[in-house]
Amino acid sequence: MRRLTVWRKRIAAALEWSPVDKGLILMAMAIPLYLQYFLWSLYVISRPDSHSLVHTEVVKRVMEVELLLIAIGSLIVIAGIFLRRRRPDYLPFQHATLQYYSLSLVLMSYSIGTLSFPVGIVLLGAPIFGFILLNRRAVWWAAASAFSLLMALSYAAASGDIPYAPSKVPPASSHAFTFWMLSELFFAAPFLILITFMADQMLTWWRDREDQIRELSRRDGLTGLANRRHILSEADAATARARRDEQPLAVVILDLDHFKRVNDSHGHGTGDRVLKASAERLSAALRAGDSVGRYGGEEFLLVLPNTDASEAHAVAERCRLSLQALIVHNDQGLRVPVTASFGLTLLSPTDSSVNAAIGRADEALYQAKGHGRNRVETLLAGSGMVPSDAFSKAPQA
Ligand code: GH3
Ligand code: MG
Ligand code: MG
Repeated sequence: MRRLTVWRKRIAAALEWSPVDKGLILMAMAIPLYLQYFLWSLYVISRPDSHSLVHTEVVKRVMEVELLLIAIGSLIVIAGIFLRRRRPDYLPFQHATLQYYSLSLVLMSYSIGTLSFPVGIVLLGAPIFGFILLNRRAVWWAAASAFSLLMALSYAAASGDIPYAPSKVPPASSHAFTFWMLSELFFAAPFLILITFMADQMLTWWRDREDQIRELSRRDGLTGLANRRHILSEADAATARARRDEQPLAVVILDLDHFKRVNDSHGHGTGDRVLKASAERLSAALRAGDSVGRYGGEEFLLVLPNTDASEAHAVAERCRLSLQALIVHNDQGLRVPVTASFGLTLLSPTDSSVNAAIGRADEALYQAKGHGRNRVETLLAGSGMVPSDAFSKAPQA
């Protein structure tokens, strides 16, 4: 599995290669193909029954073409090697390799018949592969030339100007038929394997990257917590669940106390460290199923599903004590005091959306600031402010 992942990364990395290097990949695929076809030709004319299978004279001509294609291909590769360091972004090179690839394949396909199985595979597979990896425009141009040549050859063959599938002796026995069937499979196999494998690897890599990007788009860059958009969407989802299951939902906003002073006295870098450390403390203090996000500069939003007011108060108190115990030093090694004020509320049936509850939590937070900071205040719809001692007695009752 790990080896596959390494390969996937290596293949997918090709997506980021320079145009010249991508052109070279194409050549690395095409040249072995003509070598493969050349060896097939050599094999078939050396068979004792070759006359019943192929027109050997034509196959010999085709072998010359194959050697010529290998030679031209090698020259293109040499040009590519020359270009790859000096002008790696030289797009005409990719155009040249694509034209070479598509035109030479159509030419080769002519000898075995333009309407054969391998041609179908290549016609379908090559553009898919090309559009993933290569320059779109260059692929369109190559597809256009390949298609025009294919049409011209098919038309000329259909009107009797040139023979159709000149290499091929029409199979007269089941033996010859099997030979041709296997040969066509042999021609198509490298494409089938390569295109399927590459498409799988690249699309898997794309999906992984998409997951990573989605994850990044949900996180706050500094603290790694859910960002404002994401925590609000989690709050929305939690609201819908709470209403459906008729369970309480608690919402808490907390705001670091005198944070401007932290920045002013100790520098922005220290302020950032306090934010990161606070975020870690909050995450650690919450239970599974609770969510926390960075709601604003030094404000955090907690969403606590299935939590009544006294449980939520206990969670908020735990967070408050944890932040108060936080030890962060400034660049001179002095300890920076950290505290936060908390506003707590429960979702009420009269709230049109979670925003109403968040607004109420904000109001409670304002009260906490007014009452001296580093404290938790609770404001419930209908019953107004709830004194903290109402909760401290609750667990013993
Ligand atoms: P209070 O106790 O009333 O909340 O006072 P405060 O100083 O915390 O509140 P105020 O809203 O005046 O200041 C918030 C400060 O938070 C101001 C802003 O520069 C700082 N801040 C916001 N985001 C960041 C950040 O990402 N990094 C740092 N270092 N500071 C930030
Ligand atoms: Mg503040
Ligand atoms: Mg603030």
